[in-house]
Parts: sequence; C-alpha cells; structure tokens
Amino acid sequence: MNNKITPMMEQYLTIKNEHKDALLFYRMGDFYELFFEDAIVASQALDITLTKRGKTNGTDIPMCGVPFHSADNYLPKLIKKGFNVAVCEQTETVEEAKINSKKGPLKREVVRIISPGTLTEDNLLDKKANNFLGAISNVNNSISISWVDVSTGCFKSRDLKKGKNKNIQKQLLNNLLLRMNFSEILVSEEMELNIVSEEWHSKIKKQPSSLFHYSSCLEQICSYFSIISLEGIGMFSRGEVIAAGVLLSYLKLTQCGKIPILTTIQNETENNFLEIDYFTQKSLEILSNLSGETEGSLISALDETKTAGGARLLKQRITEPFYKVDEIKKRHNFINWFLSNNIDIFKLQKNLENIPDIERSLSRISLFRGSPKDLSKLSNGFLNIEQIYKHLILHKEGLNKITLLKNVLNQINIDYSLFANIQNALRKDLPQLAKDGGFIRDGYDEDLDKLRNFRNNGLEEITKLQNKYSKLTKVNSLKIKYNRMLGYHIEVRSIHDKSLRDIDLFIHRQTTAQTSRFTTIDLNEAENQLLNSFDKSVEIEIEIFKSFTTKIIKQGNKILDIATSISELDISIMVANQSKDRNYICPKISEDKLLEIIDGRHPVVEKQTKLSENSFIPNDCILNNNDFLWLITGPNMAGKSTYLRQNALIVIMAQAGLFVPAKQANIGVFDKIFSRVGASDDLAKGQSTFMIEMIETSLILNTSTEKSFVILDEIGRGTATFDGLAIAWSVLDHLHNKIKPRTLFATHYHELTVLKENLNYLSCHKMSIKEWNNSIIFMHKILEGEADKSYGINVAQMAGLPLEVIKKATQLLLKLENKNDQSSFTKIEQSNSSHFNIKENESFFKEFDNINVDDISPREALDILYNLKLLR
Ligand code: ADP
Repeated sequence: MNNKITPMMEQYLTIKNEHKDALLFYRMGDFYELFFEDAIVASQALDITLTKRGKTNGTDIPMCGVPFHSADNYLPKLIKKGFNVAVCEQTETVEEAKINSKKGPLKREVVRIISPGTLTEDNLLDKKANNFLGAISNVNNSISISWVDVSTGCFKSRDLKKGKNKNIQKQLLNNLLLRMNFSEILVSEEMELNIVSEEWHSKIKKQPSSLFHYSSCLEQICSYFSIISLEGIGMFSRGEVIAAGVLLSYLKLTQCGKIPILTTIQNETENNFLEIDYFTQKSLEILSNLSGETEGSLISALDETKTAGGARLLKQRITEPFYKVDEIKKRHNFINWFLSNNIDIFKLQKNLENIPDIERSLSRISLFRGSPKDLSKLSNGFLNIEQIYKHLILHKEGLNKITLLKNVLNQINIDYSLFANIQNALRKDLPQLAKDGGFIRDGYDEDLDKLRNFRNNGLEEITKLQNKYSKLTKVNSLKIKYNRMLGYHIEVRSIHDKSLRDIDLFIHRQTTAQTSRFTTIDLNEAENQLLNSFDKSVEIEIEIFKSFTTKIIKQGNKILDIATSISELDISIMVANQSKDRNYICPKISEDKLLEIIDGRHPVVEKQTKLSENSFIPNDCILNNNDFLWLITGPNMAGKSTYLRQNALIVIMAQAGLFVPAKQANIGVFDKIFSRVGASDDLAKGQSTFMIEMIETSLILNTSTEKSFVILDEIGRGTATFDGLAIAWSVLDHLHNKIKPRTLFATHYHELTVLKENLNYLSCHKMSIKEWNNSIIFMHKILEGEADKSYGINVAQMAGLPLEVIKKATQLLLKLENKNDQSSFTKIEQSNSSHFNIKENESFFKEFDNINVDDISPREALDILYNLKLLR
C-alpha cells in the first residue's frame, strides 16, 4: 500500500492546516478543487458531484470542484449557509518556477477569505441593506460592541454598560443585533453565549482570546488610522476599543493584509437616537411585516430613493431616528428648501438614478478587487454628481441658513477632471477583469496605440507567412493556427505531411490522427513579437488602471463623505416629492412634552386603502402635560391597532427627519418608543405568549422615561380575565403615577375606564361605531369617551360564526350583563344544561312552536329572547 501523498497534496494540507475554519477553494488550472471533509460538506451544500482523487493511507481522497469562471454562482450559496471560504490561488507562473529552477507544485497562497460579514461583491449583497460584521467584547460584566460594513466603509461602536445592570445590557445588545441585522458576529472563544439571544448563535464566529487584548487592539486602531492616540477621533470605552480592534484584525486576516477604506469609528451614544427596541421594531412592522416579508412594512411604503446608498441610509434612519432636535430640523429645513425654491426635482432624480453604489465600488477598488466596470460606473456617477452640483449652485438662496444644503454643496464642490479623464480613457465595452486588458480606448495613450499597431502588423505578418508557405508547398489548405500548447503553428492534413517535411524550412512539432503541425524560424519570430506586444500593451493598460485607482483610493475618505451627502440628498428629494404626491407635511419639532397630531394617517394602511380605492379616515392624537395617557376602548376591527401604530410611525418618521402623513404635527422629541401588542403569537417562539407579554411589559416599566412614547395594545389579554385586568390596571397606574411617559393604551377591559376618576392625566377615548340594521359599522374615528359595549358578538356574526353559536352567545351575554358578575357563568351553564328549566313552562312552547328558526333575523331572535326573559 502506498501511503505517500503527492507533493501537491502535501501543499494542500499545509495550506488547509492554516485555514481550518474555512472551506479551502484550491486552484488547479481552471478549477477550484476541494478535498477531504471540505469536499463532502461543499458537495452537499452545493449539490455537486463528489468524486475522488488519489489515496491516503489506502483510502480514497474525496474531491469536488467548481469551475473558476463560474465560482461566483457557487460562492453565494456557501456564504448564505454561513461558511467561510478561503480562496487559494496560484501565485507564481510556470516561467517564474522555471527561472527559480523549482521542483514540485507551483506556489499557491490564500489571497482572501470570504465570510458572510466581509463581502464586497454586488451579486452577493442586497443593495438596499448594509452588511454588518460585528464584534462583541464582554469584560467584567460590561458589554461593548463594534460593527463595520466592509462594503460601504461604515465603522461604529457602542458601549452598553454606562451604569446599567447585566439584564438591561443584554436587552440593549439584542436590540442592537436586530437593528443591525448582523451577518457575522465575532466573540472571544471564552465568552459565554447566553448574553446573545439564540437566533444569532448561527452567526457567531468564535475567535482566539488572544485577539481580545486591549493593548494590541488599541495598536490595531492607531495603526489603521495612522494616529498616536484615540483622543483625536473620540472617547471610547475599553470594551469598544477591544471590539473595534478585533474587527480590524479579522479584516486583516480575511482580506490577507488589505483593509478597505473605513470611516473613522463613530461611537453611538445613548442620547443621540430615538431608541426602538427589538419588540417595537417588529410590532410596528418597520423593516418587515409580522410574517417577515418586506411587503406591508414601513420601509416598503416609504422607500422611493434612487440610489443604493440612499436606500441604506433611509433604512438606518427609520430604525435609528434622531433624538437631537437640531439634527431633525436640519433635514426638515433642507426638504423645505427644495419645495420653496422650485428646484427641478425630476432632473435631479434622473442624475441620482445614474449614480452607482459609490461606497461598494470604492470598497472593491480599495481592496484591489475593482474592475474596469467599477471605474467606469464610478466615474460616470461622479459626472452626474457634477451635474447635480451645477444645478444646485444656481439656487443659492438661503445657502447660509440651510446647513445641510451648505454641507452638501461643500462636499460635492470638487475637481471632477479625474472622473472626466477616466470616462475619456475607457472603452464602451469593458472586460470583467483588468488583467485581460482591452479596456483603454484607442487614441488615449500613444505607447499603447503603437503596441496595438505592432500587434495588428504582427497579425498581418502571420497572414502573409501563411500565404507564402501555402504557395511554397502547393498545399492550399495550409493554415497558421494558435493553441495554448504550441502557440502559433502551421497545420496541414496528414496527407500533406511529407510535402512539408521535405523542405528544410519547416520544423516538425506534432502529429495527430488527422493533422501534422510545423513551425518555422520566421513564424517563431513573428509570434514572439506579437505576444510581447500583447503582453506589453496589457501591462500599459494595467498601469493606467492602477494610476486611476491609486488616485481614487487617495481620495477615499472624501469619496465616502460625498457618498453620504448624495444619500442625504436622495432622501431629501424623495421626501420633497412625497410632500407633493402623498400630502405629507413637515412636522414641528420641539423639546416640549407634547404630541399633537391633527388628522394623522397610517402610511402603510393608507397606501393599501388607496390601492383598493377606499379612503383612510384620519385621526387626531393630542397628548400633553395635562393629558398624557389615553385609554382607548372599542370593539375589535374598529381600528385601534392601526390608530396606535400610526401615531408611533408618525413620531418615528418625524424624528428620522422625514415628513409625515398628517394635516399638522407638533412633536416634542421622544427618547424611546415602545410598542407592545398583548399575546401576539407572531413574536412567541416557544415561550408562553403570556410570559412574552410580561417580559416585554417589564422592559417598558424598567427602561421607559418621562420622554418616552409607550403604546400598549391589549396588555393582559394572555391570561385569565381577572389576572389580566389586575395587571393592566396596575401597569396603567405605574405609568401614570411613576414614569409619566406619553402613552396610548388600548384595552378591551372596559372596567379600566373608571380609572379616569382617580388618574388626573388619563382620559378615555373610543373608536366610534354606528349601529345600523342590526349590524355595526366601523367609523375608524377616535372620539372622546368610552365604548359602551364591546360588540364582540356582532363582530363574530360578521365573521360568519354559525347562527346557532351567535344565538347562544347572545343569551349568555344578556344573562351576564344582567347579573354583572363572573360567577353567573356557572349559573348560566347550569341552567343551560337543564334548558333553562323552560321545558316546564308551557307558555314557552306555545310561543316557540310558531318560530321557524332558519327564517328569523338575529334581531328577531334577540326580541324573542327578551320576551323569554319576561316569561321567567
Ligand atoms: P382593531 O385593532 O381595533 O382590531 P385594526 O386596527 O386592526 O382594528 O383595523 C381593522 C381594519 O380596519 C384594518 O383592516 C384596517 O385596514 C381598517 N382601518 C383601521 N383604521 C382605519 C382608518 N382610519 N381608515 C380606514 N380603514 C381603517
């Protein structure tokens, strides 16, 4: 048995040993091959054939492979399944190996590790979403997190400790994980995973604890940003430094030494943003509906941005709205400027549509992964930005008052000649890769033109030689051909073999079944010139490519700033449009404890009702110091949830710097927003729905402040009536007397309305209903006062419950309402089981015999019931 492994396999194993956590794509010719366990795993994940190659210790070595040219089709599948892929390329040519008189396989190296959190390719990324890689540091009960989007350069951190206990830090951490929707999370191998909720566990990549040392992390950051101390870029906690340093080390490792252009680390502090926690984001359906789809979410209703960067910024804004009044007003003023200055929005949007994903093109260029297409798109995009600049600068009115306009104009007031030059240099049809050449247009570079001429002449020379040899040998079918093995060669059918062999000029190279191949000294010379001129021309093109990319990389941070300005501009123009198209208005923002929305609408439901040609009924919401808690009653389907959510969404949109669907809105900024729907099954994963409801409520009571907005819908619904009522009662009491946030509290416990007698800042409101023709009509209008009954049976009847069930429910309800206490249920049930004892009553039978049950209306049935009651 031969136990010896081949030198190639030896090389493979050495490299694999250094990349145990990744699937190793080992380049062999035109294929990436995978071996051993990697091959088994990848063949299953990719659904490709598993074969074998050679043996080790007498056993077959499993192997599978994907063609180099179609690797892009396979990689996303593996990355989506959470694998890291180490791409190992041949890094020396046969010629170089010959020069070094080296034996054994050609040198190979891992040139990049692709992981879910470090992607840069457009086809692997969602253009409207960031792709975040996070790192968590948890030292001495203090949690910090840092995150980076390699594809856009965004780099941030947050310290979650700031005097908070472990549970609250944990909650904040999980809120943040949801908000950022991390693709990959780095933690120390020593960290206990219970601080991260289970849904993220599959994204966690444990790293050696040695990476998590403060001093080496600090060094990483200082060296990346070329600074001596961190003070110049911000105040960071120890944990934030560790988390950010770990990210940089991981990037260095996965990008094999190259780190893309990143913004300086911004640290998020608590009071910069309106906090929207995990449950609120889900319950308000901000990024996805309750079933997890984008359809029906706030983002899908709002997003009319024209650029990928704009779409990403909008997403960030509505999950992370501002808390600072100034920041919000800056955005509103900018939008108003567009509206009051008659700016040609349509024209600007046309320019925006032509702007590529600047951040992602730049990221690829800075990692030396950029293609001529990236260059072309980027430069064309910048020429469109120049057009935008020229258009905006015509309208300088108010330039000094409108801060954002001033910022944007300052940012985009640059020298665009580099981009014009790039556009001028590139051909229309561009190859995928710079290394293939052929992307610089004729006439751009003299030397290149000369070499190309030379090459064309070389091709002509070869045609001349073909004619000459054909005449000389009298073989008309003689051709000069090219293949990778032989290069240029003369080919004749085998029957002419002798005609050429007899002439000294021809040197025999190869004979196949059908053909004979020859060369000549002249042909060799022509070939050398041709190939040399081709190689040289590609070299020149690559030089030109590099000179452009170097200039771009030098301006990398400036380009990132411009990208942010363009995203900001994109959103502002979108909102200016929506103000006209959708009748959205500019809310007034202040620090007051006030929420005054007149004729507010739900942005998503309004859009849906418009589609079905119905109209949305607008509603007011006025919460202030004297009346900050509204208790809302009304039957199901009356529009309570829509009303609650629309007010929350209007606040979010306003603080995100957008306009809002209302006639008027005065909004005193909120620090946190909480929205809870009692016993919502969609959020319940395994735990009892009531337990979840209580966990959510406890988070509100523990973390909300006087500046928060609390929305509670049917809290207490998940348990027995009296328990639920008692809990809802005391939660209301606590909110009213202790925390005092602005609150909307919808309930089906009508008993709670008595609280208005004792709680001075609480008022009762109801969703109005009209009774008509034995049925009810939902008016979707909020009015002062309390609902007199819940109309549950009417709604049940409208929903099509069998008449028999409705009749019985009506009987029971009447009895209950008369006795007005729960214990009567038992009594009713007992009396019901003996048919209300009415069998003994003769008059009942007389009355009853005349009724055809299927012919009467519910109203008539009710009348009969009333009569029956009189008989008792
Ligand atoms: P509830 O929470 O009281 O059960 P919902 O808020 O779920 O009621 O609303 C029930 C239905 O009424 C929804 O289909 C919604 O589209 C519609 N609706 C709610 N509010 C309005 C409104 N203001 N104008 C028009 N339709 C509305």
